[in-house]
Amino acid sequence: MDLSFLPSKRIGVVGLGKTGLATANFFIERGFDVVVWDDSTDKRNEAISKQYHVTDFHDVDWNANDTVIWSPGIPHYGAAAHPYAQLLRARGVNLISDIDIFCRALPRHDIIAITGTNGKSTTTALMMHTLKQFRPCEMGGNIGAPVLTLPTLPMDGTYVFECSSYQLELTPHLMPVASVLLNITPDHLARHGDMAGYIAAKTKIFDKTRDDGAPHVAVIGQDTPEARDVTEKIQSRGEWNVIPISVRTEQPHGVWVNTYGELIDHGMVICNFHDHPVLKGDHNFENMTAVYAVIKKVYGYDGAAIWRAMLSFGGLPHRQFMVREIGNVQFINDSKATNADATEKALKSYNRIYWIAGGQAKEGGLKGLEKYFDRIVHTALIGDAMDKFGTYLDQFNAPYTKSKTLELAISDLWARAAQDPEPSVILLSPACASWDQFTSFEHRGQVFENCARAIIFHSQAKAI
Ligand code: ADP
Repeated sequence: MDLSFLPSKRIGVVGLGKTGLATANFFIERGFDVVVWDDSTDKRNEAISKQYHVTDFHDVDWNANDTVIWSPGIPHYGAAAHPYAQLLRARGVNLISDIDIFCRALPRHDIIAITGTNGKSTTTALMMHTLKQFRPCEMGGNIGAPVLTLPTLPMDGTYVFECSSYQLELTPHLMPVASVLLNITPDHLARHGDMAGYIAAKTKIFDKTRDDGAPHVAVIGQDTPEARDVTEKIQSRGEWNVIPISVRTEQPHGVWVNTYGELIDHGMVICNFHDHPVLKGDHNFENMTAVYAVIKKVYGYDGAAIWRAMLSFGGLPHRQFMVREIGNVQFINDSKATNADATEKALKSYNRIYWIAGGQAKEGGLKGLEKYFDRIVHTALIGDAMDKFGTYLDQFNAPYTKSKTLELAISDLWARAAQDPEPSVILLSPACASWDQFTSFEHRGQVFENCARAIIFHSQAKAI
């Protein structure tokens, strides 16, 4: 990788998670003077023990030639901005993401960038799975490996990146051959200030196009009004070949899914999404449509061949993942549903639900989910949001228990569902972030799965 665009040999890294450490290693291996920081004392001590140069950034004489790779999860503007962000900006230091370095180091490689409030990981993984059956591919960003650890692909290869709104704010050199905006609904508003700020961050995925004749395909979901509005703006700029996609309305100039689940491209039926063995529900139809649209419009591969390649995708864990079935009760892990919109997709998918909700609430709480309450037999509430969500459920006379912990929620709901003669699901789809009780949504999902498996063991033991 050619890093000559960096004006100085000094690099700062703020945030020492998996990506921060990988970034620090990347630059250390290339002879840079790398200074690192994390607010967590544990992480700093661990870094010191591994010989990283950990220093308070106030003690470094930063100047405008220096670059700091900023972990996208740490606020860098507005009232909640980390004090280092202010310090560094005052000295003219460039604050960017690891993806920005990657884009500048390999400016002629094809990148497909994917954003949206929900469905990013599924779409990115499905894109990777499908496209790699046609050409060399690597996946990174918010999913998979940190981008600076990815191998350099041949020129006919493609990188597929999942981009959060936070990452897009720190990636000014992103120039994808295709950018996907799946949907926009309220999320992360505390960080972005308001909805306009959040939309502006998401729209950055369309900021730049390559000037070397590479395709400029913008695939934009039409099923949320906010993303629909973005379509008009991008179209009016004239730089992108805009492909509107929808699972609700006909798109004469785009790609859409009719009420039978058929994917339609220019009046031609390509396949029926109901035939996919794993990806169920309109939300997954949206993700599949986006993948098809990008691969077809950028590379022109045969539609039926694209569909065949998609069919073997096995899904991602923690997204409506069926963990176990005991009698007529299924245990569904949808821990990744960290906002009401994602939870809505799960509530829509099942008819008789024992629901686990709660955690660290998002803006809007459970608002909008009441239309599915008639499918919910009983709710177990957990985490910080327990009282607030209880008050909301009271308004609709929806029965619930304040279980506090996930373990108690599962045992309460299992006791009820096990007596239920009708087929039902115990669904973890919390509509909340996990950080009040868990280290991540994966951790939360794992606890759910472990408990579900323990119940099976227990019930078998009883049967013996
Ligand atoms: P993200 O990476 O954007 O958080 P995921 O693919 O991990 O998205 O899915 C997160 C949650 O959102 C899951 O609960 C899933 O069921 C739901 N979901 C997946 N795709 C979509 C979509 N296109 N629209 C709305 N919700 C979706």
